[in-house]
Amino acid sequence: VLILAIESSCDETAAAVVKNGREVLSNVISSQIALHTLYGGVVPEIASRKHIEKINYVIQEALDQAHVTLEDLDAIGVTYGPGLVGALLVGVAEAKAIAYAAKLPLVGVHHIEGHISANYIENKELEPPFICLVVSGGHTHLVVVKDYGKYEIIGRTRDDAAGEAFDKVARAIGLGYPGGPKIDKLAKEGNPDAIHFPRAKVEDAPYDFSFSGVKSAVLNYLNGCQMKGEPVVEADVAASFQKAICDVLVDHAIQAVKDYKIPKLAMAGGVASNSALREAMKTACEKRNIPFYYPSPILCTDNAAMIGAAAYYEYMNGSRAGLDLNAVPNLKLGER
Ligand code: ATP
Ligand code: MG
Ligand code: FE
Repeated sequence: VLILAIESSCDETAAAVVKNGREVLSNVISSQIALHTLYGGVVPEIASRKHIEKINYVIQEALDQAHVTLEDLDAIGVTYGPGLVGALLVGVAEAKAIAYAAKLPLVGVHHIEGHISANYIENKELEPPFICLVVSGGHTHLVVVKDYGKYEIIGRTRDDAAGEAFDKVARAIGLGYPGGPKIDKLAKEGNPDAIHFPRAKVEDAPYDFSFSGVKSAVLNYLNGCQMKGEPVVEADVAASFQKAICDVLVDHAIQAVKDYKIPKLAMAGGVASNSALREAMKTACEKRNIPFYYPSPILCTDNAAMIGAAAYYEYMNGSRAGLDLNAVPNLKLGER
């Protein structure tokens, strides 16, 4: 089964051709990061306008690199939520037009289901059930992946997403947007035990997260230094903040694996490419003999190959979207 997948939920215009859900024939990503960096974050209207300009070229490139034409395809998969509505609409309208013109079935994909499914691409043996820690720019979820397309969210953030915390702290120490990769890099030169930032627990909700406290603690620390006229060692702040976040993520994920007696863990989303998080989680899993999976960095951040992987399993489950498919900016995982 050959699927053309389209992703435009945020600031990446992406298209991919994926065979049987796990074999990526092409994965084309046109990133707008440089454009949004000027404003310190994603500007929704600019994102939509860029998607409109790029999307046909990105799709053509994906087909060319895969050496296929529309006639070779079995279905079109597209992200229809969650995300920025104007950005999503570009991909959805494009996917519908192609499906209509080429008489192909259309499959709507949840963006986070895509992030989770990225794990199937490089880990051919990975099958549900498993626990997945989803850590992206807008989401922090602990998910029980019960089967293909069947999810139960057992934990979520009460305030900021993990990626959001990285981006905000990066901005505070003057690193610019997007902050995650910059903190990752700077932290390598710092001491993770230099400053103690809080590890928040949510009462009576062992799998929930809260990152606004650690973010405020970093801001307070920076203000304190300024008031006292003390120099700030940015690398130590980055490393200590990163460790505080990683400790909580590892702790909660391992707890879920134990409690649910599903000894298989995966990570997904942009923050899953964080090198300290990968190391910490790997060590924790090795110690307990828990098989641990995570995608390559390029499959962690937004891309269309992951949407193709998710679309395949939705397609096999019989999921089909009509030509009235619309963008759903606040789409919940497991809903349709
Ligand atoms: P969502 O998927 O929740 O809709 P999104 O699509 O914007 O949000 P992703 O593309 O999955 O998010 O990930 C982007 C986020 O990942 C940003 O917050 C970015 O700072 C963070 N990120 C990327 N690389 C790293 C890294 N190496 N370390 C930490 N954070 C990172
Ligand atoms: Mg992005
Ligand atoms: Fe994403």
